[in-house]
Amino acid sequence: VRFYNSAFQSSTPTSAFAGKKGSNGNYTVTLIPGDGIGPEIADSVKTIFSAAKAPIEWEEVDVTPILKDGKTVIPDDAIRSIKKNTVALKGPLATPIGKGHVSLNLTLRRTFSLFANVRPCVSIQGYKTAYDNVNTVLIRENTEGEYSGIEHEIVDGVVQSIKLITREASERVARYAFHYASENGRNKVTAVHKANIMKMSDGMFLTACRDVAKEYPNIAYDEDLLDRVCLRIATDPTPFADRVMVMPNLYGDILSDLSAGLIGGLGLTPSGNIGKDASIFEAVHGSAPDIAGKGLANPTALLLSSLMMLRHMSLYELADKIEKAALSTIAEGKAITGDLGGKATTQQYTEAILAKL
Ligand code: NAD
Repeated sequence: VRFYNSAFQSSTPTSAFAGKKGSNGNYTVTLIPGDGIGPEIADSVKTIFSAAKAPIEWEEVDVTPILKDGKTVIPDDAIRSIKKNTVALKGPLATPIGKGHVSLNLTLRRTFSLFANVRPCVSIQGYKTAYDNVNTVLIRENTEGEYSGIEHEIVDGVVQSIKLITREASERVARYAFHYASENGRNKVTAVHKANIMKMSDGMFLTACRDVAKEYPNIAYDEDLLDRVCLRIATDPTPFADRVMVMPNLYGDILSDLSAGLIGGLGLTPSGNIGKDASIFEAVHGSAPDIAGKGLANPTALLLSSLMMLRHMSLYELADKIEKAALSTIAEGKAITGDLGGKATTQQYTEAILAKL
């Protein structure tokens, strides 16, 4: 059992590929810079990795959708690259709203069966918020629930949207949550649900969690209602620092933004999408079109995602070194970006981190 100093972890499922080392000792990682602020924050990560002498070679791919047989699809080159490298770092992708548009994020999650989305939220020293001890890890089922994309207009003015829950996906994400807890020194798994209302779907999710809990006698297990957890975390996040929370897709999407709000916003929250054959790491935030191209974006969330990626690839010391440089830059408060109340540009913040490496 390994215990780590940092909460920005992703555990590698035993069957997963966690990067492939080339003959020169370097790993090739797929990089999707993404839309909006994506290229700016991806540049910052590349600069920091290069200064830290990370043994990473980036294979940059474009995921601008192309039209194939009347449908928008991700270019084959991008899919091939992720399949080959098994690890990718991804900037945000803008999702056009409206009929007929397929979310590229959802497509990537489905294509690579990225079944668990790990979202740690940790108070950043030096950046003052209402609480200074937030340390939550939320694991979101990433492939189904309300996000299964099955919607019909039954009659004019009535739309039915299907929430799909399967025993297989529930068990898979529950097992990953217990695995993560046992690898990262967290002693409890809490399943978050609304089985009081959605008795069958969330009920099945809970049954899967209870069954998996029996395989992990050293990890405590309990259950709590989503609305109660929202109230409890916002009132006092302290009790949640000992555990991993696991939940269906939509609940995880919402609860993780609530947790992000407690630590100072989306500029600071990373995530890892863990799959059996590949894993894709990305910031929780979107493409931030309001500040894109202005050099104002905070690259911390993507940088912390890249550190989860390094740890996923067992490059712990390198991840620790970069994390220390970034967090101490924020703690000093001299070169922080506008979202954290500072005046630094993305580049000035990046340079301050470089000076500490
Ligand atoms: P957003 O996360 O892009 O922005 C919300 C607010 O947070 C904005 O004010 C933005 O300026 C700020 N912000 C976000 N990241 C920041 C950063 N790194 N530094 C400083 N400020 C930051 O959410 P949105 O505006 O609702 O979405 C914009 C687009 O992104 C949409 O097309 C949405 O579908 C897409 N999106 C993509 C992903 C993803 O690729 N995983 C996730 C969420 C949203």
